[in-house]
Amino acid sequence: MAKVTVQERIQSENERVAAANRAAFAKARVLVLNLVSSPGSGKTTLLEGTLDRLPAAGIRSLVIEGDVSTDRDLERVRARGGEGVQINTGGGCHLSAQMVADALGRLDLRAADVVFIENVGNLICPSTYDLGEDAKVVLLSTAEGDDKPMKYPAVFHESSLAVLNKIDLLPHLPYDIAKVEREIAVLNPRCEVLRVSALKGDGMDLWLSWIAARLAAKRSK
Ligand code: MG
Ligand code: ZN
Repeated sequence: MAKVTVQERIQSENERVAAANRAAFAKARVLVLNLVSSPGSGKTTLLEGTLDRLPAAGIRSLVIEGDVSTDRDLERVRARGGEGVQINTGGGCHLSAQMVADALGRLDLRAADVVFIENVGNLICPSTYDLGEDAKVVLLSTAEGDDKPMKYPAVFHESSLAVLNKIDLLPHLPYDIAKVEREIAVLNPRCEVLRVSALKGDGMDLWLSWIAARLAAKRSK
């Protein structure tokens, strides 16, 4: 008998649950985006800016907030009129498909066109846990430095879009944004890149257009 490691067993169980989540999302015809980044890159600020703009685009949304121990991000989402549920991982450094499956019992997917999942702030293991999403969106902020794509390649291999956030800080930082874009293209030529300041609003129109196009593509299938 082939030796199956504990890690392989965890992964195959995660893949089974992720497939069930994906089927539930397909049935509800919702687009699901898994937001991944290191802590402090601006995932929640991107969500705030998105929630401000989605109603004008006629797009309804729900948010699944993943965090180690607080519901502070969900409070921020609700303050912008957003709805969703909190998952606390109790120290865990990533969301698993089962955590999302449990959260789905507390959500009415029929009330949404798009579901945003804010993963735990971590650039490493969220890349290996499929949650059943349509796309992973990786955020990088200029304040983190321009060396991150090559240091954390796996998440770029897995992502459909990279949001380069906090571009309003570029005048103050030694950050070569063209280099970052080149390196992402080397790691994954299919990963699109957007330059954004979620706080100031730059590039948010492009982000909204990307969401709308992905939603239309999913629903045309
Ligand atoms: Mg957050
Ligand atoms: Zn982890």
